Amino acid sequence: MKEQLLENPVFNMAAEQFDRTADFLNLSNDVRERCKWPKRLLTVSIPIKRDTGETEVFFGYRVQHHLTRGPVKGGLRFHPNVELGEVAALAMWMNWKCALMGLPFGGGKGGVTCDPRNMSESELENMTRRYTAEMLPFIGPETDVMAPDMGTNEQVMAWMLDVYSSHAGHLVPSVVTGKPVNLQGSEGRTAATGHGVAFLATRALTKCKILHEKATAIIQGFGNVGYHAALTMERFGVTIIGISDVTGAVYNSEGINVRALSDHVAESGGVKGFLASDAIDPNDLLVQECDVLVPAALERVITVENARDLKCKVLAEAANGPTTIGADAILEKRDDIFLVPDILCNAGGVTVSYFEWVQNLQRFQWSEQEVLTKLDTMMAKAFDRVIAFAQRNELPHRVAALALGIKEVADVKKQRGLFP
Ligand code: NAD
Repeated sequence: MKEQLLENPVFNMAAEQFDRTADFLNLSNDVRERCKWPKRLLTVSIPIKRDTGETEVFFGYRVQHHLTRGPVKGGLRFHPNVELGEVAALAMWMNWKCALMGLPFGGGKGGVTCDPRNMSESELENMTRRYTAEMLPFIGPETDVMAPDMGTNEQVMAWMLDVYSSHAGHLVPSVVTGKPVNLQGSEGRTAATGHGVAFLATRALTKCKILHEKATAIIQGFGNVGYHAALTMERFGVTIIGISDVTGAVYNSEGINVRALSDHVAESGGVKGFLASDAIDPNDLLVQECDVLVPAALERVITVENARDLKCKVLAEAANGPTTIGADAILEKRDDIFLVPDILCNAGGVTVSYFEWVQNLQRFQWSEQEVLTKLDTMMAKAFDRVIAFAQRNELPHRVAALALGIKEVADVKKQRGLFP
């Protein structure tokens, strides 16, 4: 019954990863069950007036995986594929990610099934405001703090803050993170996830004894995470040779200028047609030779069909759940690819979200330098812990990262005991 409610390929993946790791940790059935299933699964209908004057109802979700270690933290996604099971999987991964990074949060995720590319600004605003209103009894700085994810951004966070604060009767900046800096967002938050991805990708290159200045990278997805990962890697000396987004893929073995591509996207709506490059099939792009491959778009893009053909040295998972269980089995047999697993690789976003929440609670503002230095320190520590744990226990990097996160949650569950 529980499985049926959440039936979805992404949830099945997250559940299978959990079961495997729980077996390694030898978790008792009692703790295993309490760790695996989400605390709250919320589904709401969101009626809005379209610009045509017609009313349309969207479905919105929020899954709060656990409140055991603190308020839940996690993004809000606007995308046509959003389903309850997918949101539950993303909430579960957020839970292990927060625990791995030592942040005082549980995991959460939200989403609305819609296509934001086909909605006007005012339709998006109305949908965001109504979603927030429906969630009012369940969110707040001590219960659930949302942030941007696919299809959402700092403007969406500002609308959410406005709805929550209007009901509270005063400004409550700590109810969301990833908001504009002049609304008490954090310096460095927009770039944080991509910055963290680039920081760990280059750390992995060093482990593989590859000089950054001689390395090449290919990136799938050129949104918030893909763009900042590309820009930061470029700054670290890495040559970006391929980038794709929903409109197509571009390749140039001599290097793509990230800012020039970004200007092209701002003008034309996508990477397709960027003159200083060749067009390439987006699926072929993933299997081109490179040092770093960064999936920074959707789930389940590294599959049994392409895992054997990958020609990267480092696979830096910026997206959540980009590698299927079948592909993992193939990659684990290959000793020529250094995996930086998603819950570690993209943890820069939630870490700076944590900094933002702390700054809001303290009514204090840190500089960008301060934020990024603190972030690098925490990312480096988590990376070293995961790699050392994997080596000590002869585990794949993914299982090592999950084990460190899940064990933290399991220990706290045991300490708090079962009510009543
Ligand atoms: P975004 O909406 O800003 O960008 C998504 C990008 O993916 C866009 O460029 C889009 O064109 C591209 N895309 C969509 N479908 C594609 C396809 N089939 N092939 C190639 N590209 C495609 O989203 P984002 O915030 O950059 O998030 C990207 C990923 O990173 C998601 O998996 C998200 O969960 C994860 N993530 C984001 C954050 C964050 O702080 N934003 C934090 C952690 C993890």
